[in-house]
Amino acid sequence: MTFSSQAEASKRAEKLREKINELNHHYYVLDEPSVTDAVYDSLARELKQIEAEYPDLLTADSPTQRVGGEPLSKFQKITHDTPMLSLNDAFSEGEVVEWLERITKLNPKVAKSAFYCELKMDGLACSLKYRNGLFYQATTRGDGYIGENITEQVKTIQAVPLRFRSESKGEVEVRGEIYMPKASFESLNSEREKKSLPLFANPRNAAAGSVRQLDPKLTAKRDLSFMAYQLLLPSPNKLHHQEHLELERLGFRANTRENKVVSSLNLVLDYQHHVNRIREGLPYLIDGVVVQLDDRELFRELGVIGKAPRGAIAFKFAPTEVTTKLLDILIQVGRQGTMTPVAVLEPIEVHGVTVSRATLHNEDEIKKKNILIGDTVIVRRAGDVIPEVVGPVENLRTGREKAFNFPKTCPVCGLPIERKEGEAAYRCTNKSCLGSRILQLRHFTTKAAFDIVGLGPKVIDKLYDAGLIADQADIYQLKAGDIAQLEGFGEQSGENIVKAIELRRKVGLRQFLYGLGIRHVGVETAEAISQRFNSLEKIRHAKLKSFQEVPDIGPIVAKSIHEYFSHIENQHLVDRLLKEVKVTLAKRAAVGLLSGKSIVFTGALQQMTRSEAQQKARELGADVNDSVSKNTDIVVVGENAGSKATKAKELGVKIITEQEFVGLAN
Ligand code: NAD
Repeated sequence: MTFSSQAEASKRAEKLREKINELNHHYYVLDEPSVTDAVYDSLARELKQIEAEYPDLLTADSPTQRVGGEPLSKFQKITHDTPMLSLNDAFSEGEVVEWLERITKLNPKVAKSAFYCELKMDGLACSLKYRNGLFYQATTRGDGYIGENITEQVKTIQAVPLRFRSESKGEVEVRGEIYMPKASFESLNSEREKKSLPLFANPRNAAAGSVRQLDPKLTAKRDLSFMAYQLLLPSPNKLHHQEHLELERLGFRANTRENKVVSSLNLVLDYQHHVNRIREGLPYLIDGVVVQLDDRELFRELGVIGKAPRGAIAFKFAPTEVTTKLLDILIQVGRQGTMTPVAVLEPIEVHGVTVSRATLHNEDEIKKKNILIGDTVIVRRAGDVIPEVVGPVENLRTGREKAFNFPKTCPVCGLPIERKEGEAAYRCTNKSCLGSRILQLRHFTTKAAFDIVGLGPKVIDKLYDAGLIADQADIYQLKAGDIAQLEGFGEQSGENIVKAIELRRKVGLRQFLYGLGIRHVGVETAEAISQRFNSLEKIRHAKLKSFQEVPDIGPIVAKSIHEYFSHIENQHLVDRLLKEVKVTLAKRAAVGLLSGKSIVFTGALQQMTRSEAQQKARELGADVNDSVSKNTDIVVVGENAGSKATKAKELGVKIITEQEFVGLAN
């Protein structure tokens, strides 16, 4: 989000802190999250960005600087010998690349280090202490410095060895994640449902709630497990992967089959893709992969930033939910006359693609969800499902949000709209208004107009029906993710279309004018006007008389063009288009080979299309006409040329073949 002043950013940061602290309390203390992790991550990320942009706003007690939550007072508190830190997040490949660049700059040795990639278990962190190979204490992470003593509870977890399997002397600390397997979580929740007990939100919370039972007998009833990921020895291993191997020798599960040492950034990215593909089939929940420098000495040298070590990063899976700002609500009029409110969002990446629009279905839905314009909203996109606005984060409101009032008239034709009893949608009452806009949109992308490859009539219809475009300028706002959500489209086709749109950010004046779809303005008329005025500004503000003076333009056509530009909404559309595209003036040879000559094409051309040939002739300075008269200088004849060729002969007009024209043009 962008802010107009530091004071505004400060207010937003304050609100975010308040909200995140409340979410932390629910999650870490009550074991009852009130939003999904993805929503939490999205808000935390926004706060981090504000603090990075305005370092003065960073407070010592900001949740971005603290690990976890407060330890519960009902448990004995234990101070960690070495703080139990958190991890910094990356949500895209780009962020992993940035992380690596950052730490390589700090220490060039990073460039030579291998990475250890491991599964990021979604459970709760726990420290286990052993003396001479015997277990004696288990502690939660707590706030990173002080945790809760859960020794008796942890003794009930079979995967935690009470005695090492191989000999060990002195003090050893093992860190890992207590988790509940997916299947056990499902059966626990279905049992609780039968007994009308509150359900756990996810396996992580079920595990946390089970471990933090004062009575260990209750913990024993829950199926919990433990995955180790760190070994703190009096004389540490040189490489992190060796810790994992050692942990297995001592009797722990340490995921050595799934985890991997890799030597390059590309292999890190491959690993994450691979894990993303297999994660559904794993018996436990993971929320990403942890990537860290295998070289422990280098890892220590890099130190800590905020609440996390520099040498590691949690590369999370693309979130299916994010938060963003609802900038506006537009009304899209479907071809059947149905009015659908569409959310205009600050563009945001969700589940790997950027989206800027999402349907809000109907008026009741907006009211039910209590959505206001200006709200921070949760947007969800899972799999290929169309993005939806889940709802607002109400306590992030500033007081400046505005309620959305459904318009009384149709935004296309201005006539009243109606909502019949028992129907959810409003409809336009004017049967003839429907469709005209869609025809204009279809026309806009055609070859002779803006020539946008891949945006044919079918795609235009789909985009329009999904509320993603309402007028020509909206096409330039499309993001790959908007298109990817349409049935039959994927991320690749979305990206291809966006690329094709990008290629048309420069258009000729004639194409621009023709693309507007003004009644009676065909390619030839658009060309004649472009040549005469040679400036869009002049055309937009010309008097009716000026159009009437253009040769070959009749009074009806002149009136139609003049009328078009006299409508304020058409001028707005042109303004919006001009923010997106640059209008170029046709390249015309100053003294072209065909300068001032009147040329007519007839018959089927073999080497180029009719419009390509006409364009070429114009570039050479010719006036292209449709009919042969005594004023015609040249007639180009293709195959099966008919009456025009005959007439040219009769009038003694010069006739050339397509081949001769090509010779001239080259
Ligand atoms: P984190 O869970 O993103 O990362 C740090 C933790 O990862 C470590 O403490 C460790 O326990 C764990 N981990 C798992 N496998 C690991 C491995 N192989 N190696 C190293 N560590 C491993 O960060 P966090 O600070 O514990 O908490 C943030 C998480 O909690 C986020 O995912 C956030 O969404 C969630 N959260 C959610 C809410 C909510 O309201 N839904 C509230 C607060 C926090």
